[in-house]
Amino acid sequence: MNAHRGHCRCESVVISVSAEPEVSVYCHCDDCCRSTGAPVIAAVGMPKSAIKWETETKLGTYVNGTCTRTFCTTCGTPVAQEHESAPDLMFFYTAFMDEPEKFPPTFHSFEGQQIDWLKLGDDLPRYTRTKVIEA
Ligand SMILES: [Zn+2]
Ligand SMILES: [Zn+2]
Repeated sequence: MNAHRGHCRCESVVISVSAEPEVSVYCHCDDCCRSTGAPVIAAVGMPKSAIKWETETKLGTYVNGTCTRTFCTTCGTPVAQEHESAPDLMFFYTAFMDEPEKFPPTFHSFEGQQIDWLKLGDDLPRYTRTKVIEA
């Protein structure tokens, strides 16, 4: 299997993942939007056992409740989030991946927090909170 690669904008943080994502999701929650400055985020849940950190960079982390967010301390790029509810996965922001076009989201989380003017014309399932991830 070809590894998927991801990198921050300064390339201090580079990863490769030798697995397919177990989850690909849009999230509209306030915490995701606030921590990225984006009106919606997309993320891919990758198995931690398949992730290789290619650089020796010190990652910044910020813990908010049950979610830990990781970012590049050099360029500030949001890298990933981890959730206590899915301890085996690391959710990389889809736009952090080198080929985000390969990972179309399959559902929406926290649809009730979607910003009114944001129009996404898909028929994907929309969850009030999030889909339970079967590990
Ligand atoms: Zn960086
Ligand atoms: Zn979120």
